[in-house]
Amino acid sequence: MECQKDKNLEECICTYPGCPQKGMCCSCTRHHRDKGELPACYFTSETEKTYDRSVKKFVEEQQ
Ligand code: SF4
Repeated sequence: MECQKDKNLEECICTYPGCPQKGMCCSCTRHHRDKGELPACYFTSETEKTYDRSVKKFVEEQQ
């Protein structure tokens, strides 16, 4: 299966500038997983802009 980068970019809410992972969801997820974090799309657009991708922030937002 080929990477559907163009389609992924249409749905990506991440506003972090210059990220080489943007549009490549597997790389994005791996990058944040390795840091104990979650990708931007787990957060609301408002929270995503804080660039805090921590699990703690995710849990806070869900409560
Ligand atoms: S969520 Fe992180 S890895 Fe994914 S595109 Fe945004 S900054 Fe890059």
